[in-house]
Amino acid sequence: MSGKVASGGSVRSAVIGIEIHVQLRTATKMFCPCAIPTDADEPNSRTCPTCLGLPGALPTPNRAAIEKVIAVGAAIGAKTPSTTRWDRKNYFYPDLPKGYQISQLDLPLAEHGSIEVTTSAGVGSVRIRRAHLEEDTARLRHERAGDGSRASLIDYNRSGVALLEIVTEPDLRDAETSRRYAEELRLLLRTIGAADAEMENGQMRVEANVSLRDSEEAPFGTRVEVKNMNSFRSVERAIAFEIARQNELLDAGGSVTQETRGWDDTSETTYTMRAKEDSHDYRYFPEPDLPPLAISDAWIAEIRARLPELPAARRARYVADLGLTAYDAGVLVGEPRAASLFEAARAAQPALDAKLLANWVAGEYLRAANEGAGEPEPKQFAALVAAVGAGEINGATGKALFAELCAGPLDIRAVITERGLAQISDDGALEAIAAETLAASPQALADWRAGKQQALGFLVGQAMKASKGRGNPARLGEIMRRLLDAQ
Ligand code: ADP
Ligand code: MG
Ligand code: ZN
Repeated sequence: MSGKVASGGSVRSAVIGIEIHVQLRTATKMFCPCAIPTDADEPNSRTCPTCLGLPGALPTPNRAAIEKVIAVGAAIGAKTPSTTRWDRKNYFYPDLPKGYQISQLDLPLAEHGSIEVTTSAGVGSVRIRRAHLEEDTARLRHERAGDGSRASLIDYNRSGVALLEIVTEPDLRDAETSRRYAEELRLLLRTIGAADAEMENGQMRVEANVSLRDSEEAPFGTRVEVKNMNSFRSVERAIAFEIARQNELLDAGGSVTQETRGWDDTSETTYTMRAKEDSHDYRYFPEPDLPPLAISDAWIAEIRARLPELPAARRARYVADLGLTAYDAGVLVGEPRAASLFEAARAAQPALDAKLLANWVAGEYLRAANEGAGEPEPKQFAALVAAVGAGEINGATGKALFAELCAGPLDIRAVITERGLAQISDDGALEAIAAETLAASPQALADWRAGKQQALGFLVGQAMKASKGRGNPARLGEIMRRLLDAQ
């Protein structure tokens, strides 16, 4: 996991810290009763005096949003203060109608947590410095009219949506781990129902701070903040690019300037957005329109008790209790819909072979789901996997039934009986089918005698067809081979 980069004879180490903004999954905005807008909403249709920043309009905190951040804190092992406060972060921008953003400075709702991240190099822990609540800004759209003149449009629908900011310590050392961290955070947020965190539509925005130093022991170098990545893949590529760019710059005798750079997905490069002074003077002060908020231990305990099983714990359980490989456990837990089908199928048939079930969920189910197939009914899915596991139907029949099950309701037990799908494993019956097939395929036999190994596969295929797909393919293969050898 070391982020050492070598070029031109020098070896440097990368240091990365990540700031992520995520829109919380709430029914209404952070400080007003406006509904959370969707892309289908008319611009400026989801607004009120509070989120438009009109003079005299007062904020009312959204309890659900606060509880979601406390839940995030509990899930990452962070500390939540007994009293928190809202602070005004003052700056002017057209997307910020009040001229300030309500945020949290000294008393974030969660502080000093960590997240476990697994990469190709192993398992590591990333420390979370803080997670706090704030409000989102409006959205600006820059346009050029037909006559060439420019105009900027403002849509206040997003203004005031509850936003969670999560900042890591500078613990990351390479691009892959940084991407995995962002993916793991998203999985955690989705698992606890705090956010949907879709990167593609801006619900989750990742900013990476990247610097290089001469060795793992040297003090941190000057950092560059990279933003505008709209996928996990872009996060990894942007950081890798930035590490390489800074390395080349240093090799050439130059120095890194502290600045904010944007990621361009098309050219796969970063470009200067703005030079950044050491710290902005936001003139933070306690928000006078909102009183401090007391958070009792009982409230925190209640929220903690409602947390579902978290991804890291679930992976560990799948490996330790169910005997899955770490890889399979990672695939299942990484896809919430796969994990929930796996759980539901196990609940329906507790004795079902967990490894076989995991293979079906990670393989057949995820492939179909990614192609847009419907959800199979878990109880019937469990019955199907059990029938395959018991050798009652063969794999091909299982896959055909699975496709039907995704398309609509199906009674697996009834269908196996009614359609006579039970696999033929009886050697006598299989031998008869194999012998008939062989007798009807003199060309294949000639091929086999001429040393063509493919003839066997062809004959087994023909025999499977003759069995109407119900033969046990492994047994048929053995029998056909025996018949050929005896010729
Ligand atoms: P700001 O609020 O100005 O963006 P912070 O000090 O809060 O700056 O840090 C923001 C992020 O940058 C954090 O995730 C932190 O871990 C990371 N960071 C700070 N210094 C460095 C550095 N030299 N190299 C890489 N990341 C850094
Ligand atoms: Mg920053
Ligand atoms: Zn509003």
